[in-house]
Amino acid sequence: NHPLFQSALPLIQQIESHGYEAYFIGGCVRDTLLNRPINDIDIATSAFPQEIAEIFSHTVDVGIEHGTIGIVYHGELYEVTTFRSESTYTDHRRPDEVTFIRSLEEDTLRRDFTINALAFDVRGKLYDYHGGLDDLQQKIIRCVGQPYERFNEDALRMMRAIRFASQLGFKIEDNTLQAIETLSPSLAHIAIERIRIEFIKFLEGDYFTQTAHLLETTHLSAQLPGFDQVNVKRLLDRLIEKVKPLQASRSQYRELIWAFITQLLGYSEQETMRYLKDWTHSNDFIRQVVQIRELLDLIRKNQVTAMAIYTLDTGVIRQVQDYLDAHHLSVENYLLQKEQLPIQTRKELAIDGKRLMDMFNLNRGGPMIGEILANLEMRVINRQLENKSRVLEDYVRQHYSVVGDMN
Ligand code: ATP
Ligand code: MG
Repeated sequence: NHPLFQSALPLIQQIESHGYEAYFIGGCVRDTLLNRPINDIDIATSAFPQEIAEIFSHTVDVGIEHGTIGIVYHGELYEVTTFRSESTYTDHRRPDEVTFIRSLEEDTLRRDFTINALAFDVRGKLYDYHGGLDDLQQKIIRCVGQPYERFNEDALRMMRAIRFASQLGFKIEDNTLQAIETLSPSLAHIAIERIRIEFIKFLEGDYFTQTAHLLETTHLSAQLPGFDQVNVKRLLDRLIEKVKPLQASRSQYRELIWAFITQLLGYSEQETMRYLKDWTHSNDFIRQVVQIRELLDLIRKNQVTAMAIYTLDTGVIRQVQDYLDAHHLSVENYLLQKEQLPIQTRKELAIDGKRLMDMFNLNRGGPMIGEILANLEMRVINRQLENKSRVLEDYVRQHYSVVGDMN
């Protein structure tokens, strides 16, 4: 009865009216049964991608060769995937070929865990071929079929197992866990981008502090950049200490968490940048993590200045501020409040380059204008000059030789 389900019902009905089957499947079913917010809606169908494209006017190719087609409907994207079975895997990450099939039950055989192999039809009937509902109720993560086979096919599933443990607070069933311990080295076959997505969800899970040790006990950590070099148990203990008191959802502290990781790994700024690049983080993300490391450093050395705060992103300051608050660490907090600075950006300076050019009778700007602006900016931020055009102009007249002064 979830609103997202409601909104997708007409889609499924439409597919059915053309004589095909269609079901809600995977994460959206699992999260609905657990009363958790849904991330995205996946639909499984007996119709082939081409057949779906013929039914709907607005479709997007999200991976037609794997049987997935996107339907844009009321501004939302719904992923519709044709029932499929997967052949042998020789590279530990992708099936050698996929075969479209017409049965839901057979489709569920390729899914990773029993709790992810549940489906709803439009009438709200649950299809559970692998005891997924029992496992949901008993909070167990268990492979569909033989764990060794399933992890051998696709090694990423091992990272998914620990990320679901961290997100849901579930236990990994014994055979499943043993298979991960044995097969963890095969994670090396998986592209780092795909590992990063699962690792981030693991780090940010609601139950991270209770499940973090899985990273080490499964030996998956040995396959992650940086973690192969250190005492992982100690690193995790210290990371837990740092993130535990943070109250809000940890996804709000993504940059902060990675700042702690690089700090605990003992990395310099240069090493931090290279490390985050290895993880294929974006340049913007890397910049923010580096800023957090710098701010934490300034705080430790008691060297936070108004100018430093001025140059940092608001989001960076907020994350550090929340961290300090959560740990009842009092720095001189007023210093961390960017909103309290006289100006937030150079645009708010009560004088601009154009006015300076007028004062100096210049037709073009140049390095001198930039230098004067930077000087004024610094003095305004340090509260040596009030941010008023008169005050700033007087200062310029007194400290720089102004030709042909005007009113
Ligand atoms: P989330 O809430 O993060 O979206 P999810 O369970 O929906 O979790 P997705 O990555 O969106 O995860 O995948 C959708 C479904 O596809 C899963 O529930 C699972 O049934 C199947 N699936 C995804 N990745 C794999 C995989 N590597 N191996 C087997 N099945 C998978
Ligand atoms: Mg999903």
